Amino acid sequence: MSPHIETPVLIVGGSLVGLSSALLLGHYGVEPLVVERHRGTAIHPRAAQISQRTMEIFRSVGVEQIVTRASEEQFVQDGAIMAVDTLAGKEIATYIANLNEGVRDASPCLRVFISQSLLEPLLQKRAQELGAELRFATELVSFEQDKDGVTAVIRSRDSGDPQTVRAQYMIAADGAHSPIREKLGIPMRGRGVFSNSITIYFRADVRPLLRGRNLSVIYVLNPTLRGFFRFEKPFTSGFLAVNAIGDPQQPTTDLRNLSPEQHLELVYAALGTRDVPVTIDNVMHWQACADVAERFQGGRIFLAGDSAHVMPPNGGFGGNTGIQDAQNLAWKLAEVLRGEELPAMLQTYDAERRPIAEFTVEQAYARYVTRTAPYLGTATLPTIAPDLDIELNYSYDHGRVRHIRHADGLGLRWTTAVVDGRQVPVRPDGFAVVD
Ligand SMILES: Cc1cc2nc3c(=O)[nH]c(=O)nc-3n(C[C@H](O)[C@H](O)[C@H](O)COP(=O)(O)OP(=O)(O)OC[C@H]3O[C@@H](n4cnc5c(N)ncnc54)[C@H](O)[C@@H]3O)c2cc1C
Repeated sequence: MSPHIETPVLIVGGSLVGLSSALLLGHYGVEPLVVERHRGTAIHPRAAQISQRTMEIFRSVGVEQIVTRASEEQFVQDGAIMAVDTLAGKEIATYIANLNEGVRDASPCLRVFISQSLLEPLLQKRAQELGAELRFATELVSFEQDKDGVTAVIRSRDSGDPQTVRAQYMIAADGAHSPIREKLGIPMRGRGVFSNSITIYFRADVRPLLRGRNLSVIYVLNPTLRGFFRFEKPFTSGFLAVNAIGDPQQPTTDLRNLSPEQHLELVYAALGTRDVPVTIDNVMHWQACADVAERFQGGRIFLAGDSAHVMPPNGGFGGNTGIQDAQNLAWKLAEVLRGEELPAMLQTYDAERRPIAEFTVEQAYARYVTRTAPYLGTATLPTIAPDLDIELNYSYDHGRVRHIRHADGLGLRWTTAVVDGRQVPVRPDGFAVVD
């Protein structure tokens, strides 16, 4: 293996946002190198709610249909998002009665439910078809940048052999704890960590408890715990995410040291019955927080996805926001690498995406507080915006750059459009520049 590699873009992190970045760069004609520490794509389901905007992006790169087909095999689509005291017990609230209710006409693409573990291999395959090189079990060890590029050292976890990569640009899609962001000295700003949460993966036949209801996300709010369930077809396995336990006014939110017996008790308390045998497969630890990086760019390095913004899963915005970062960045990098735009244009990535991230993170936090953690207080919460405004109806730079939609969908094949009676240019991401 050559000790030295040249690539236009090095992507660190080969999960949802790293793979999406690779796929989009490939689509815009750039063949990046992706390094991912793990041996393969995500093993945990995590993200499942995929927004219309994300599906529009998937349509533009030729994966919408395979994602839709796979999603239908995994979940009954168009489920409700509701709250119960237990799965066997009372329904408390319905947040969304049907995932696509009221939004079907907003886009040619629908919201779908597909877990990250099923989605990522589809993105990986398409990214490779479009020319991306992916190296799993390979980690970034160190990096330096100068005025012409980034020099990084990567290392295979199997051989231990280091290699040097020279890239013109680097994307840090290395997740919430982003070592790259840390080394760049970019602080996170926001609400900080408000729960050391867990996700309990378990097997149990919950069909009798579902009672024929089609439920995408089931919040569970009772005196024992506050969190949410998600179940896949054939409804014999799923997960329970738990954010807080005990007294709803003064709950315990540090769940790092619970015993296996306590995990099992939490699942029973959420199911509301002990009549269903439960086997716990795994417990994953994660932090619920709501923060945005102070800058999304450090020289030739760009933060995307959870490295740039972290938010609670309520609303299903985290991964989608990261995929939209990837789209915004990919076409700009492609134009700069082709010499069609000056590098200074890349500064619009931070200018456009950071305000959207700040808005979205606060909206996710507001959903977390109102649905799961009212004890955190509502005094500083933003007004809750409709989901559609968060997912689809945003514009950049106070409306100067607006997304347009045509009858054929998206406007992604258009270079000009008529907006407010005027002919205006359309960017490769389907946004019209209105002044
Ligand atoms: C329970 C739960 C439910 C969720 N539901 C939704 C949902 O419905 N919809 C939604 O949009 N979002 C949801 N999210 C959020 C979503 O999972 C995240 O926003 C998404 O995974 C972020 O992707 P990412 O690629 O930015 O980061 P990550 O998925 O964290 O990936 C970062 C990757 O970088 C790799 N890495 C780090 N350092 C290095 C290094 N030095 N070298 C090589 N590789 C490295 C890591 O191994 C990792 O694979 C949910 C989250 C949770 C916890």
